[in-house]
Amino acid sequence: MEIEVKLRLGDAGGHARVAELLAPQCAGTFLQENFFFDGASAELSSRMSVLRLRFFNQNERAVLTLKGKSVVVDGIATASENEEDLNADFARTFISDPAKLVTLESNLMKYVTSAFEVDTLVCLGGFRNKRMLYNWNGHKIELDETFYDFGTLYELECETERPEELKKELEDWLQQHDVQYQYSTTTKFARFVNKTLD
Ligand code: MN
Ligand code: MN
Ligand code: MN
Repeated sequence: MEIEVKLRLGDAGGHARVAELLAPQCAGTFLQENFFFDGASAELSSRMSVLRLRFFNQNERAVLTLKGKSVVVDGIATASENEEDLNADFARTFISDPAKLVTLESNLMKYVTSAFEVDTLVCLGGFRNKRMLYNWNGHKIELDETFYDFGTLYELECETERPEELKKELEDWLQQHDVQYQYSTTTKFARFVNKTLD
């Protein structure tokens, strides 16, 4: 299970403010390209799951992720997550030829084909996300700027096993620095599907 605190920042100004405040603790910047896949008969999405292929900084790294149903309550998101690293150059070929992904020799794909009974896959498209990583009070904070056709989303995320405590810490810190935020109510993928930032 992945548990993360998800706070939505009010605007680009809030995002810039957080980036400025955390600059000394920056641990990396990644331009992520996310592509999503489903079975030809929506075998995954009908069970609230999705297969994501993510590239980091062009072809520096590629990760295939099976995400289970996400539950987002008061800025805390919980979902099952299974991940596998892929060769990025090879993984690129799945974008134009998604059916080829089902034939991938990997434990994760074996699980997907058997658990969801898919024999082919379709690519649903996707979106880019600029993620900045920071070390903060013993946590790894992710500052996201997500680019959709219909707008840009700004979020602060952090994986944790103690979400309530961490959420409180983050909220106190944001309030102390006058950064507007609200609890995220949904996932980036759901926004992509619904074509709305809300
Ligand atoms: Mn994760
Ligand atoms: Mn996340
Ligand atoms: Mn995450």
